[in-house]
Amino acid sequence: MGNAKLPEYDYDIIIIGGGPAGFTAGLYAARAGLQALLLEGAATVSQITVTDMIENYPGIPDGINGFDLMLLFKNQALKFGLEVVSRDVLSISRDPTVNLWIIETGEKTLSALSVIAATGAQWRKLGVPGETEFAGKGVSYCATCDGPFYRNQNVVVVGGGDSAIQEALFLTHFAQKVSVIHRRDRLRAAAILQKRAFAEKKIEFVWNSTLSEVTGNDLVTGVKIKDAVSGELKTINAEGVFIFAGRIPHTDIFRSSIELDEAGYIITDDDMKTSAAGFFAAGDCRAKLFRQVVTAAGDGATAAFSAELYIGNLKGEAY
Ligand code: NAP
Repeated sequence: MGNAKLPEYDYDIIIIGGGPAGFTAGLYAARAGLQALLLEGAATVSQITVTDMIENYPGIPDGINGFDLMLLFKNQALKFGLEVVSRDVLSISRDPTVNLWIIETGEKTLSALSVIAATGAQWRKLGVPGETEFAGKGVSYCATCDGPFYRNQNVVVVGGGDSAIQEALFLTHFAQKVSVIHRRDRLRAAAILQKRAFAEKKIEFVWNSTLSEVTGNDLVTGVKIKDAVSGELKTINAEGVFIFAGRIPHTDIFRSSIELDEAGYIITDDDMKTSAAGFFAAGDCRAKLFRQVVTAAGDGATAAFSAELYIGNLKGEAY
C-alpha cells in the first residue's frame, strides 16, 4: 500500500501486545477502516488471561474468566478485520525522514505509520515454592479482582509499598484478618496510607520477615515466613496470599525510542501520545494511576483514535 506523499509501508498501525488495551485499540483501528496489525507475544501472555474471575468489568454482572473475556475482545476485533499474528518484537526504530516506524520481529521486518504499545506489566514474582503452583488458587496479585473471594477469611499481604498497603486496606472490607509481611521494620508506603493502616484493627504487621513458602493442598492454607533477624521460621494460616513486591513494565524494547519514567513506564499525555511522533501507548505499560481491564480498554480506544488522527494528517485526510 502507499500514498503519493508517503513511501511504501505495510500497515497504518501496528499494535504490540494482545491484552485488553491492545485488542480494544485493534477493534477501534480496524473498525475505522485502517490497515491494522496486532502482534501478540509469542512467548508471553496477557496478565488478564491468568485471572480466574473478573467481576468488575461493566456489562458482565455474573463475572467472567480472564481468558474467556480476552477471547471475546479478540473475536470482536477480528470481526472488524484486525489482523493478528503471534510474534515477539525484537526491536523498534523510527526513520524520521519518511515518517515510518520499523519493527523487527526476527522472521520479518514490518513498517507502519504509527505504533501503539500495549505490552502491559507484570507483578514481580518472589520465586518462592508454592507461588506459581497456587496462582489463582489462593495466590493473587490483584486485591481489587480477588479480594471479595476472601470474605471472613484470613489473608496475608507481602510488601510494604503503596500497592501493598492500599490493597491491604481494601482487603479489610472482606477479610477477617490481614497480615502484612514486610522484609524491613518500616514501610515504604506514603505516610497517609501508613496512618490508615496502623489505625485499622484488622491489619497486623509482621516486620523483618520474608515469605519462604506458600503451602496448601488444592487451595492455599497458609504461608511459611522467615524472620530476617533471627532466621526463625514461622507458619501463618491464611486462605489468601496477595503479593505486591512491585511491578515490571514490558517496555525495554522502547527505551531508545520514547520517554519512560523512573520505573520504566511509558509517559503519555491524556490522548495516549508519547514523546515520539506516531507512537502511542495504552494500558498497564504506561504511567498511570489505576490498572484495570476497563481502564486498559479505555486507553486502547483513545490510542487508536489518536493514531487515526495522526495518520489522517500524514495522509492529508485529516478532518
Ligand atoms: P514499590 O513501591 O516498588 O514497593 C514494592 C514493595 O515490595 C516494597 O515495600 C519492597 O520492599 C517490597 N519488595 C520488593 N521486592 C521484594 C522481595 N523480593 N521480597 C520481599 N519484598 C519485596 O511498588 P508498588 O507498591 O507496587 O508501587 C509502585 C509505584 O506505584 C510506586 O511509585 C507507588 O508510589 C505507585 N503507587 C501509588 C499508589 C497511590 O498513590 N495510591 C498506589 C499504588 C502504587 P522495600 O520497601 O524493603 O524495598
